[in-house]
Parts: sequence; structure tokens; C-alpha cells
Amino acid sequence: MKDSHGRVIDYLRISLTDRCNFRCIYCMPAEGVCPMGHDEILRIEEIEAIARVATRIGIRSVRLTGGEPLVRKGVVDLVAALSDMPGVENVSMTTNGVLLPEMADDLKAAGLSRVNISLDTLDPEQFTFITRVGRLESTLNGIDAALEAGFNPVKINAVTVRSLNQDYLAFAKLSIDRPLHVRFIEYMPVGDSSGSDGSGWGKQDVVPSEELLQIINERAVAEGLPELVSTSDDDKPLGWGPARYFQFPGAQGTVGFISPLSRHFCSQCNRLRLTADGKLRPCLFSDREIDVRAALRNGGEEAVHECFLEALNLKPDDHHDKVGTERNMSQIGG
Ligand code: SAM
Ligand code: SF4
Repeated sequence: MKDSHGRVIDYLRISLTDRCNFRCIYCMPAEGVCPMGHDEILRIEEIEAIARVATRIGIRSVRLTGGEPLVRKGVVDLVAALSDMPGVENVSMTTNGVLLPEMADDLKAAGLSRVNISLDTLDPEQFTFITRVGRLESTLNGIDAALEAGFNPVKINAVTVRSLNQDYLAFAKLSIDRPLHVRFIEYMPVGDSSGSDGSGWGKQDVVPSEELLQIINERAVAEGLPELVSTSDDDKPLGWGPARYFQFPGAQGTVGFISPLSRHFCSQCNRLRLTADGKLRPCLFSDREIDVRAALRNGGEEAVHECFLEALNLKPDDHHDKVGTERNMSQIGG
């Protein structure tokens, strides 16, 4: 179905939990978020019911996120139920990868189509600094496990933050020898993570994608590598969404840039978000939410259908540079 600005909305991001085995600086406060009560979180069968209604308004792609979706009990069964659901064409997931070595095969067998793994640095110390508690090796093992399980594409999401001084070229080079699709995402100063946790990061830490592309190309040339070239539609990884893709000539994978701040893609926005506590968010950057959990528990699937229609109606045309939110990213799902 179309929203009130004529955009086709066919993609739903579902956050399965606000809990996580990491505490990334840009995503949640050091002490974690106050965990939602058992009754506040949608039960697995409630998520299925909401997804079923979502297909009635034209949702065709579902992405599971969090917090960390793989820490949610029942996630493999949910993937199986969603991928068997009439109307759902693909089910994907965004994860920090830590639990993939033990779960990737089961997720693949359950019907998960694609996986995005978040990784912001290849430096072990910086990795622990960013995630506060994580080890680089655990996410690298998760990437290996995803490739071995046969996921294709495997995308790597790297948030770029100016103060971190990340080695962007090293990241881009991950796409050369293996079919990995590296996507640089502009840091979004949202929730408590935007400075109040002591990181001090703010809008000045956004590295615009154009600048990033130029830096990568300059460093590549200095190392004797060719520059990145724009990717043809045939070489774009499936589900390419709002990213612009490039490639080192002959590389197995691609390098993408997602620019929510420097290059709004609101006019192409095709998504709605469902939080773990059952709130439907028409826009990542707007705190306007619709209580689907209450609708389902009090009025059943017809009431949920009304919520989706309301969300379509409420989707703003653009975020107009208002990117702060009351919730942290871990509570919205990215
Ligand atoms: N735990 C999973 C993970 O890390 O992939 C899924 C949830 S996480 C909230 C989803 C995505 O949001 C991740 O790729 C993460 O890097 C990104 N993210 C979190 N906070 C962000 C921020 N402030 N700016 C940009 N991206 C952010
Ligand atoms: Fe957890 Fe993902 Fe947020 Fe990091 S980005 S704290 S892994 S939810």
C-alpha cells in the first residue's frame, strides 16, 4: 500500500528485544537500558499475529533486529514462521554476529534469507572500546559462520564516527577477496548515546558519505589500488535499499554508503518499525508511536490493521534534519 506521500510501504523492521550482549557507545548507555518487563515485550506469537496483519497492508520484507535479535528465545522458530507466512517474500536480520557460529545453520534452515552483521573497526582494542564489552574475534567468527552457512549476500554494517578515526580503507578492502558487502553508515546522534554518556559525540562526528568515498579513493590510490567504481544494477547485492554501491574492479563484494543525514533518502522510504514493546514507529527519527500491543491485546487483529493504516497516514515526508529521538537506537532497532 502507499502512504499519504505516495510511497509504497512494503518493509517492516521488527525489534525482538531491547537487550544485548554488547553495549555499543553510540547505541545504548554504559549501564544498558532499563530492561522492559516480561509483559511489556511482545510474545513470539503476538509478533507473528502483527506480521500477518502487516502483509494485508502490503508488507513483503521483514527484518529482525534489536537489541540483539539472537539473544531472544524462540528466534529460530519465529524466522521459520515468518518465512512460511503467505505474503512474506523474505526475512532478514541485523545482528552483531556473536551468536552466529552456533545459530547460523539453524537460521538458514529456518528460511532466513539474508544477514547484516555490524562491525565498526578491525582493531581489537577499538572494538572493545566501541562495544564496551565485546571482542573483535567473536564478530569476525560470526562473519565466517554466515558465509559458511551459505548466506548471500552477507552485508557488513560499519557506523562511521569522525572522532574514532577508523581505517576506512581496511574496511573497504574486506569486499575484495570474499563476497562481503561493506556498507558505511553515517553516525546518527540519537537518544542518550548522543554525547550524554560521555562519548561527547554529536553532529560534528557525522562523516558525510561523499567525503568518505573521497578518503577511501585517495588512500586506495596511495596503496596502488584502483579507485572504487559505481556498481551496475546487476552487481548490487539483493535488498540494496537506500545504499549507493561501488566496487573495486574485480572484487567479489561491494562497498555501499548509507547517508541518512547528508543525503536524505526519505523520498524513497519504504519502511515501518515495530519496537520490542509493540509500538509502531512511522519514522526512525520521530517519537510518534502507535500502540499495537494494546490494540492486539484489547481488540485483536482488526484493531492492529487500523494501527497500520494510521501509521501509513502518519509517515512524515522527510525527517527535516530532526534526528534526535527519546529512545536509544537499541530500543528502536536501527
Ligand atoms: N544488535 C544488532 C546489531 O548491532 O547489528 C541489531 C540492532 S542495532 C540497533 C542495528 C544497527 O543500528 C546496527 O548496524 C548499528 O550499528 C546501528 N546503529 C546503532 N546506533 C547507531 C547510531 N547512533 N548511528 C548509526 N547507526 C547506529
Ligand atoms: Fe547491541 Fe547492536 Fe546496539 Fe551494539 S549496536 S549495543 S550490538 S543493539
